Amino acid sequence: MRVPSPASLPLACLATLLAACSGNVREAAPANPAVAIAPVEVPAVAHPQGETAAWWYRSGAAHAAANGAMGGRARNVIVFLGDGMSLTTVAAARILAGQRAGNPGEEHLLSWERFPATAFAKTYNTDAQTPDSAGTMTAIATGVKTHIGAIGVSAGGHDDCAQSLGNHLQGWLALAADAGMGTGIVTTARLTHATPAATYAHVPNRGWESDASLPAAARAAGCSDIASQFIDFVRERGAPQVVLAGGAREFLPDEEVMPGVRGKRRDGRNLVAEWQALNPGGAFVHDTRQFEAARGKSPVLGLFESSHMQYEHDRDRGPDGEPDLEAMTRFAIETLSRQPGGYVLLVEAARIDHAGHEGNAYRALDETTAMSRAVQAAVDMTSADDTLVVVTADHSHVLSFAGYPRRGNPILGKVHEDGDGPALDALGLPYTTLSYANGPGYRDASADEAGVQPAVGRPDLTDVDTTEPDYLQEAMVPLEAETHGGDDVGIWARGPGSAAFRGTLEQNVIYHVIVQATPALRGQLCEAGACNADGVPVELPSIDALVPAAH
Ligand SMILES: [Zn+2]
Repeated sequence: MRVPSPASLPLACLATLLAACSGNVREAAPANPAVAIAPVEVPAVAHPQGETAAWWYRSGAAHAAANGAMGGRARNVIVFLGDGMSLTTVAAARILAGQRAGNPGEEHLLSWERFPATAFAKTYNTDAQTPDSAGTMTAIATGVKTHIGAIGVSAGGHDDCAQSLGNHLQGWLALAADAGMGTGIVTTARLTHATPAATYAHVPNRGWESDASLPAAARAAGCSDIASQFIDFVRERGAPQVVLAGGAREFLPDEEVMPGVRGKRRDGRNLVAEWQALNPGGAFVHDTRQFEAARGKSPVLGLFESSHMQYEHDRDRGPDGEPDLEAMTRFAIETLSRQPGGYVLLVEAARIDHAGHEGNAYRALDETTAMSRAVQAAVDMTSADDTLVVVTADHSHVLSFAGYPRRGNPILGKVHEDGDGPALDALGLPYTTLSYANGPGYRDASADEAGVQPAVGRPDLTDVDTTEPDYLQEAMVPLEAETHGGDDVGIWARGPGSAAFRGTLEQNVIYHVIVQATPALRGQLCEAGACNADGVPVELPSIDALVPAAH
């Protein structure tokens, strides 16, 4: 049923009406008559066959609207993505941060754990129970769940370029740029890696980072590599104003273009030079010295490493090194705050995921604490009155937090239940609080042996310092790389529209809360004909209708 326009009804009557409707909406929206809207009807479909891109878009819109996202009036949006940041990783990282501050640790909170709104996200891809970063970030960035490995395209064949050309999805970064808002990307991964790529590129296979990894058949069918699509985005939109990342090699030709960086491209293009030609007043930076000198300039492109940026634990903190996530976040917010129409910024702590794959809890937790500092900086530099800050993860990892360690036990240490030495397993051996279900830590404490041998019992950790940064936690199943987990991840939010983040949400709902809570973004969608009578973007927008504005 439609709810009549609130303006035509006395308030008491409206209250009665909303109560009468409550069977239809999933959850009463916050008490704000201005957002009384009709429930969005979603057709029942067979799963997974009936899950078209249009169905995912509409069902995500319905849930966000039912949770009251249309009541948001966000001017700015900052999305923090902890890649692979499982809830177990959050719990262990908060204790590490607390213990580093000299406290028992359990009572500590990471910066985003003080946010008023929380929810769970179901992370599966359309074809995968345990997902990858490409499919999950596409859901977060475009409102449509898709196949594992997909970047900015709806579900289809993993290597089917021709099919993917008709499946392009528009994310909030492009919508923001087209609406005249400022835009930014900060990540410790390669700029062409799955998470950042899903905000600007469209390929069915995340591996197509440069032309060197783009199959000839895909090129012949009309697909281009992710790095060249970044330059297309810059050329078409005059955005983003700030990009700070790793991954210079994907943008440079196969020669030593800058010290220590040999490009991977085979087409001879130097995309950094192309970016500079498009942005004669901008600054390209490659180390901390150049980064600091670029303050006040716009646009700024920073590519600090050939591949991913260094782990926080390992990075060079001097002028020839690279900045940390907090410094890059501050820089981006300073730059984008000068934009007259507000901004949308993605900040990714990418290497939580990589440390997990390496079976190295120390760096996974340390990277998480680095993101906590970056989120705190964003909170300090913005107002909850106009800036929506969303913190989430794309997927989980198989880190386990186990045993009965006593209060204040070192989170990276062996389990101690009391003061009389470590707790012992059935074999009489000590064990750590943290371990992985699979990965390289199977063989022994250091996993530095060549090859994998059947384990007999467990390694004796009695004389092993498990808190040492390079220690690899034990793993039950031997795999070269530890895997993602299929369990839910957290969403934490503050600012306009954040109250819509509650309950258990399909991951694509995150996009819909963001666009519904940000008038400039949903206005862009309504102009493209995607909105219903209540102004809710419910129809999968045609990418052709979303034409970049002249800049
Ligand atoms: Zn991963």
